[in-house]
Amino acid sequence: MKNNMGGSYRARVLTHIVYSAIITCLVEVFLITNLSMVAKYMQQKGQISALSQLILEQHTAVVILYVLFGILIFSVTFMLLEEPGIRYMGRISDAVESISQGNLGTEVDVTGDDEFSAMAANLNKMASDIRTLMDKEREAERTKNELITNVAHDLRTPLTSIIGYLELLAGNTKVPAEMEHKYIEIAYSKARRLEKLIEDLFGFTKLNYGKIAMHVGQLDIVKLLSQLLEEAYPNFVEKNLSYDLQSNVPAKTISADGNLLARLFDNLIGNAIKYGADGKRVLVKIHAEDDTVTVSVTNYGYVIPADELPLLFNKFYRVEQSRSTTTGGTGLGLAIAKEIVDMHGGTISVSSDLNGTVFTVKLQVYFDVNKENFASQS
Ligand code: ATP
Ligand code: MG
Repeated sequence: MKNNMGGSYRARVLTHIVYSAIITCLVEVFLITNLSMVAKYMQQKGQISALSQLILEQHTAVVILYVLFGILIFSVTFMLLEEPGIRYMGRISDAVESISQGNLGTEVDVTGDDEFSAMAANLNKMASDIRTLMDKEREAERTKNELITNVAHDLRTPLTSIIGYLELLAGNTKVPAEMEHKYIEIAYSKARRLEKLIEDLFGFTKLNYGKIAMHVGQLDIVKLLSQLLEEAYPNFVEKNLSYDLQSNVPAKTISADGNLLARLFDNLIGNAIKYGADGKRVLVKIHAEDDTVTVSVTNYGYVIPADELPLLFNKFYRVEQSRSTTTGGTGLGLAIAKEIVDMHGGTISVSSDLNGTVFTVKLQVYFDVNKENFASQS
């Protein structure tokens, strides 16, 4: 593509040179013929002047004048033909200057198909990429600030009730035995909630900074998912949900890090349970092919607005800004899931409409951790 572009600019300049040369030749022929005819006519009339004498003799000075005039005609024609290109270059240069001054909304119109139009297109793309990057940074900053507030809130809420219940138990008033047990249970579950929150935060930071070494082995993905669903059975029952595991193969061995994959699908299944509508089912579908395995987790419930879908995988992003205690979370689950999928060289996507919210993970069957690392480094 690059060579083509180089060729097209060169071809355009060559065409302009040829056009300018033709026009120069025509004007010169016209000029020489006419001047010679006028000089001859004057000679016939006997009105011979020094100039017509020089013209008729084709004197060196006249030839030089012809050449100079030819150069002038050639230059003017060439400049006129090149003028639109030069003006376009000027517009690109203005745009570069404007972008460098921070006006990222600057755009240049893309006309033609030579290096300059390619440069304009690349410039527009670069400005739009920087815009997106800055928007992302701003969004990350906003979510980070939100997280600090939220984490502080999330840490304080269970802690307050743990302290409250422990105070009751340690207090002077005698608590009935069955209430004592209940208080301990509540304090315990709140403490576990705190533990998960802190684990998630640490886990994500570790993954994100590449501190986790992958232990890739052979595992049966159908078995893994059926085990994870079985383990989550009490949570399904609690939410009055049922699950369905469908697979086009009875077993499929893939190379992956078992612990990381378990964490990935735990997050997706956990979300399906957490956000699935009461009484509905969660569908886990496996579609294995020769080189890839696609796993989709579908749940029914509220529809995630289309403009929020791409943001779900951002760390700390949560759709329900209200952060109700029943579905409390850090908004790290999907960011962790995406990180794990990326580490395996796979893809994760989401769609949400009245037919359900579907998270789809596509993994390679033969995963070579060294090759993947090499690819991501180069
Ligand atoms: P946690 O870190 O505990 O997982 P979380 O569940 O809020 O917290 P994510 O798993 O990253 O965080 O999900 C981000 C947001 O995406 C959720 O808050 C929720 O609003 C939305 N979401 C995720 N999965 C689903 C789903 N299956 N159905 C509907 N909404 C979902
Ligand atoms: Mg989650």
